[in-house]
Amino acid sequence: MMRHRIMIMVVTVAFVVATIPDVHANSIPQMVRMRPDVEDALRQSLRMEGISGRITNLTADTNGHLTVAQVTFTHFDGMESPQEMQAFAGRIAWTALTRIPQLDELDLIGLDYDPTGRATTAPVIFSAAISRGEFADLSARYTPADVVRPLARVWYSRPLGLRAQPASGRRPPRRFRLAQNTIPLAPTDIYRGDRAQATLALTFDDGPFPIYTTLLLDTLAQMGVKATFFVTGENVQRYPFLVQAIVRAGHEVANHSYHHPHLTRLSVAQMTEELASTQEVIAAVTGQAPRYFRPPYGEYSTDLMRVAHSLGLSTVMWTAGGGDYASPSGDALKAKVLRQADSGGIVLLHEGVPGTIRILPETAEALAQRGFALTTVGALLAHLPAGAPARRSDPALPRAR
Ligand code: ZN
Repeated sequence: MMRHRIMIMVVTVAFVVATIPDVHANSIPQMVRMRPDVEDALRQSLRMEGISGRITNLTADTNGHLTVAQVTFTHFDGMESPQEMQAFAGRIAWTALTRIPQLDELDLIGLDYDPTGRATTAPVIFSAAISRGEFADLSARYTPADVVRPLARVWYSRPLGLRAQPASGRRPPRRFRLAQNTIPLAPTDIYRGDRAQATLALTFDDGPFPIYTTLLLDTLAQMGVKATFFVTGENVQRYPFLVQAIVRAGHEVANHSYHHPHLTRLSVAQMTEELASTQEVIAAVTGQAPRYFRPPYGEYSTDLMRVAHSLGLSTVMWTAGGGDYASPSGDALKAKVLRQADSGGIVLLHEGVPGTIRILPETAEALAQRGFALTTVGALLAHLPAGAPARRSDPALPRAR
């Protein structure tokens, strides 16, 4: 019986892991489809318009308040101009927002031409988000082909995402090392907040993502909670308007590397490139470079922390949560966060996990009943008394990705 149960667990975990796309994938998790009605209506409308052939992904989801859909399409033939690609996106937006009254926002993602036909690995070269309100205004003044053009949130650039992916898994030769001892390694690097304050920092890793960043921001706004978003440089470059929306809503943006590699397997030069390029793209998109860095998978080394220091970054780990990507329904997550929550702690959750968004309000409510307030990492650490020795977080960290 016990062995049977373990078998089922192993099979379930293997299934979940197999169905969760890698963080570098262009698509977002689809195992929880909350609005199949909207998806079906949208798919049918696009087919009737004769524009469904280039569409590789179509998803709709809701937080119970907003309904957001994502449509991913491919570059036509390698010859299509940015204007033609934008016109195609405009036709999708026009069809979706005139035909589907339940839809509040549409996220549009254009992938580069991929001669191999494996469109899921092609870089994102076009992205835009259009809300129902914006569409009402724009559709009165523009044609379908032009309707997404005036959006400040439209992004198009072919060279995006072309930074070489660092080879992971093997140790590359070290070409240079930062000067030893010029940057003292602070023991304060892995923070937790003040244990005397009944405050927890709320953090979301790996985003931003279409659909889910919008739904998460809406949920946090309803909860009246500010959080810290550890974003990857790659996703910031793909979806700059989503990072701008995070900042506009008063949340904190932090560095989670560019490609989400296993950083400790890379050379110091590659580590520096991963962190510095992320600082650069976030500063370019939001006007401000982050102060905090969290290593992917929670993997760190003295070299890595030295690199972070050289860029003015403090390394931030976590004390509660993690593993939410492995339980997309969110069922086990609430119990886990409540069990691990303690004063001055840091809660790790991930963007792009539908279940996480769904359990968030009730989890925050339960924490509030126990006297805990949720805030950003910056606000949590501001409570640390000056000169206080910061503490290493618990050695047995929950798993992250
Ligand atoms: Zn991560």
